[in-house]
Amino acid sequence: MTSLEKIIRRIDSYRDAMINMQVKLCALPAIAPSNGGQGEVKKAAFLLSFLQENGFSDIQTIKAPDMDSPDGYRPSILAHFPGKNSVKTIWVMTHMDVVPPGELAQWRGDPYKAWIEGGKIYGRGVEDNQQDMVASLFAIKAFREEGIKPNYRLAVALVSDEETGNIKGIDYVLKTTEAFSPRDMIIVPDAGNEKGTLIEVAEKSILWLKFKTVGRQAHGSTPNKGINSFKAAGFLTVELDRLYKKFPLRDRLFEPPVSTFEPTKKEANVPNINTIPGEDVFYMDCRLLPQYAIPAVEKEVHRAVRKIEARFGVSIEMEVKQAAAAAPPTSARAPVVMALKRAIKEVYDESGRPRGIGGGTVAAFFRHAGFPAAVWSKVDETAHQPNEYCHIDNMLGDAKVFAHVFLQE
Ligand SMILES: [Zn+2]
Repeated sequence: MTSLEKIIRRIDSYRDAMINMQVKLCALPAIAPSNGGQGEVKKAAFLLSFLQENGFSDIQTIKAPDMDSPDGYRPSILAHFPGKNSVKTIWVMTHMDVVPPGELAQWRGDPYKAWIEGGKIYGRGVEDNQQDMVASLFAIKAFREEGIKPNYRLAVALVSDEETGNIKGIDYVLKTTEAFSPRDMIIVPDAGNEKGTLIEVAEKSILWLKFKTVGRQAHGSTPNKGINSFKAAGFLTVELDRLYKKFPLRDRLFEPPVSTFEPTKKEANVPNINTIPGEDVFYMDCRLLPQYAIPAVEKEVHRAVRKIEARFGVSIEMEVKQAAAAAPPTSARAPVVMALKRAIKEVYDESGRPRGIGGGTVAAFFRHAGFPAAVWSKVDETAHQPNEYCHIDNMLGDAKVFAHVFLQE
């Protein structure tokens, strides 16, 4: 029997224990204070005892100060498992916090009393992010109980504050410790697809804009006496559509493979049909390929604004609501990506595909800090929904994928 076969058999024997752990974690809802919760301290204490009882070493709790939480801090835990060689560490990072359940009437059961139905565990947090937290912990436990030493050091990072910005979670850990090295392999199993084929390695920059167009209100029958702000704004959206032509690069890593520039939210203007609106507000959501810089786009937007102002005699105020530059992508050929692809093939018989997404994953914090990280998991994407669930087979399968990565040369 190979080491992998032994580990896989051992992981299969953990099925009930893993379900049990899910149920216990679910009963410790770690909701951020800004979402009306108590934070992660109780959940962290439970996890800490698991780590201590299961052979993890160099266990460290990093406390990010947070005066809004009843304990005054938000804990993040780093814990290791020794390998033959300490030149690099293979990390799995998951987050302890969960989002609130939302409307309880939409749940078929108590979101904090996880229940099993047809091969799935239901409850808040069971997919996001407990499925892979439990998977990574039991994958490492299997090494210990089989007495198999991985080639490199293994580690888990169990962090706080993922759902509300990461500042009191991984961002704080990265800023206050030297736990990570550019040689490390970092897996963040916090997104994925149903088949387990999506390996997220890159993201687009985000630029959100607000446009307030001011003209002059008038009676609907005498538009000549006013300046129709809505009409000017409409022409502005058409002008802004040219951004697609001005920033035409395609990158097949991404879906869609282009930068996108879309008018989205529209605020109400006048309440009645027979008034020419004097003021109009709309918003735009731009997602830029990392090859483009945000200021270059802003410059073109300003040009469009000036053109419409001159043509219609309106004044247009543009406000940047959010501008987040994409982190440098993790290479599609980075060791962590290649290792995941091999493991996904072996465990799930699927071909993992490195892809870029529209923006905003926690892995960006690692990438900004110079550490290659890959986001991967096999999930139905029920995160944040009522009746969130985790396929028990995915929890075990993902544990085997991690174990496969841990065993690679
Ligand atoms: Zn998550």
